[in-house]
Amino acid sequence: MIFLNYFLGASIGSFFCLIYERTNKNLSIITPRSHCDYCGHVLGILDLIPSVSYLLFGRRCRYCHQKYNSHSFQVELYLGLSFLLLYFNFYWQVLIVELVLSYCYLTDLGEMKIFTWMPIILTLLLLPTQYLKVGESLILIFIVGTISLFTQGMGIGDLLLLFPISLVLGIEKALELILISCLLILALYWKISPKKKIAFVPYLTWGFLIIQILTLVSG
Ligand SMILES: [Zn+2]
Repeated sequence: MIFLNYFLGASIGSFFCLIYERTNKNLSIITPRSHCDYCGHVLGILDLIPSVSYLLFGRRCRYCHQKYNSHSFQVELYLGLSFLLLYFNFYWQVLIVELVLSYCYLTDLGEMKIFTWMPIILTLLLLPTQYLKVGESLILIFIVGTISLFTQGMGIGDLLLLFPISLVLGIEKALELILISCLLILALYWKISPKKKIAFVPYLTWGFLIIQILTLVSG
């Protein structure tokens, strides 16, 4: 059952990657069949096991041996692990935050952009149950937004996402989340090119999962 949860999450991650890649190229999400972008070879079942195929075939296409980027793998792994945790501790609010975060992960990593309607819809879905946290969440966004204005830290998209996240987490855990995300950036600093702007959503997304793990462990 636990493995099923992982593969359900990883499969949804894989589907998000397909939607993202195909809508970017103005292609249908149904046809043509999944294929390698480099050699065009149609992918078989073995090539399409979410998060596993990527590792199994050495992060490459097994027909033309071109190296794939890891974006799809990261999102499949993330949603797989998220669904694994939801097996132990299910909150639909956490689930929809993780789904929206994982799609923004792809757009932020791919093109440094976030569709603003996504955090807005997420906020509207959460408001009926989380309205008590609106005040503290607004204060948090105001403070983080003011700091970002002077330090060029977070972008508008990041702040818009942080609002519904703090509606779910509350201000204390949302602050912990920002701290963990910044620590993750520092830990991976050797991998980040200093000239490039950093996509913040991936760090926020993994930070959100770490918060869920810490919450589960601390009971
Ligand atoms: Zn290929």
